[in-house]
Amino acid sequence: MSGVLVVGGGLAGLSTAAFLAWHDVPVTLVERHTGALRHPRARAVNNRTMELYRGIGLEPAIRAHRSHAADPGALLLRVDTLAGKEIWRREAVAPAGPGSASPCGWASIDQDELEEVLQGRAEELGADIRFGTTLRTLDVRDDGVTALVEDGTGQYEITARYLVAADGHRSGIRRRLGIEPDGPGVLGDTFTFLFVADLHEALNGRTISVVHIEQPRPGTVLLPHDGDRQWVFSAPFEPDVDGPPEEFTEEYCADLVRAAIGVPDLDVRVVPQMADGTTILTYQLGGRVAPRFSDGPVFLVGDAAHQVPPTGAFGASTGVQDTHNLAWKLAMVLRGEAGPSLLDTYDTERRPVAWFTLEQALLQLRDRTGRDVLGNGAKPAEYDSVVFGYRYGPGEALPPEELRGQVGTRAPHLTVTRGGTGLSTVDLYGPRFVLVTTDGDAARPLEKEYPLDVYELGTDLDAPDYLAAHE
Ligand SMILES: Cc1cc2nc3c(=O)[nH]c(=O)nc-3n(C[C@H](O)[C@H](O)[C@H](O)COP(=O)(O)OP(=O)(O)OC[C@H]3O[C@@H](n4cnc5c(N)ncnc54)[C@H](O)[C@@H]3O)c2cc1C
Repeated sequence: MSGVLVVGGGLAGLSTAAFLAWHDVPVTLVERHTGALRHPRARAVNNRTMELYRGIGLEPAIRAHRSHAADPGALLLRVDTLAGKEIWRREAVAPAGPGSASPCGWASIDQDELEEVLQGRAEELGADIRFGTTLRTLDVRDDGVTALVEDGTGQYEITARYLVAADGHRSGIRRRLGIEPDGPGVLGDTFTFLFVADLHEALNGRTISVVHIEQPRPGTVLLPHDGDRQWVFSAPFEPDVDGPPEEFTEEYCADLVRAAIGVPDLDVRVVPQMADGTTILTYQLGGRVAPRFSDGPVFLVGDAAHQVPPTGAFGASTGVQDTHNLAWKLAMVLRGEAGPSLLDTYDTERRPVAWFTLEQALLQLRDRTGRDVLGNGAKPAEYDSVVFGYRYGPGEALPPEELRGQVGTRAPHLTVTRGGTGLSTVDLYGPRFVLVTTDGDAARPLEKEYPLDVYELGTDLDAPDYLAAHE
């Protein structure tokens, strides 16, 4: 029994598969849906996460896409109806380019397109990705797992040394393990669908990024999907009052759109957001963190481990960072380069980051909407400290300009030259450990003993500011 089974082919699962395959770990991923979900959801990838994707060669492919949320001049609007009274407007901030903190700027890509890019890269690196395959039962032992899965042709077993549960915020695997998340819990229920309509008249020349609409009910949101005639409609619902949204008829959905747009005779067509024809999906906004991120050979990543509200755009990026942290550790343990206790550090490092990120997302929710879930008077941290400055171990999150290679922090970004080519120090930290030293002769023998790359300053690396930039 070798390798890793990943359950769930969303952003976290596909990222896990890509990072593991990059480390040459045999990985199989099963996803119950037959294709990617056609819904933009997260539309911003923060620059720390872009650094991780850059490390596996994905930056150009991600930048080749651009979300319509970042179209030039796109607006964040609050309106009564789209054609009616405008209550508030702000220009959507275009993702910033690389600053002094990072070689990467933010990326603006719709999550459905990012998932396609990730799937392509994971497969190119050798991952076995099986869409249309559902986990049915799971036998967990100390030495591995046996999963019974089902696809269109029947049921079969997959055995693996480790299992990564990337099965989303309703994680069935987490439930099977009896892991009950902590935190404020459900913050609201929403349903979404895609529709096609000509909104040019109601838009009246405006390009939109996100529109918050009071009609037909406060909390309704309209997002552009294809930049022309396809849109995403999302609204809150109360399960006890509205019943299951999956049972809403197309005509009912079209009427909701007409009320939101403020054009009673608008021609509206609801279209599937999944390859199997599903039109309506629900999403529970929540604030939860699992009390442990692993159980024997099973590891929780992404929304299965923690769920944060969309305020702040932290959710997806935090999940991707989990998978990067876990992948190199699984690779070292599977190769026999580290003992299994290395895997315990996945929980001790990532769980505090999840709590910190949840707190920051809830503070942004409070500041934007007045809804104070925490009620503890906490102040939001500087945004870039949340993105870059969290620490593995004790200590406050730091702003990027104070990162100086302190233990447990992300190493600072500097531009250096290697073999005549300029690159970021962040690019040095690849699949192996890195030792930057002034004494190459003493350090080089270590390369034979450990998975380690040694760089001697002044010889292998032209980096005059390196020592000054580190503690
Ligand atoms: C409206 C909205 C806006 C958002 N905006 C942002 C943003 O701007 N920035 C940001 O960072 N985050 C954002 N998020 C959050 C982000 O979308 C989620 O954090 C992310 O999708 C979680 O990814 P995941 O892979 O962990 O889970 P999911 O995307 O939920 O994937 C889990 C997968 O597991 C599969 N699965 C479940 N059970 C099984 C089984 N038994 N067998 C096989 N497969 C199974 C499911 O089919 C699913 O595809 C937003 C979310 C929403 C709803």
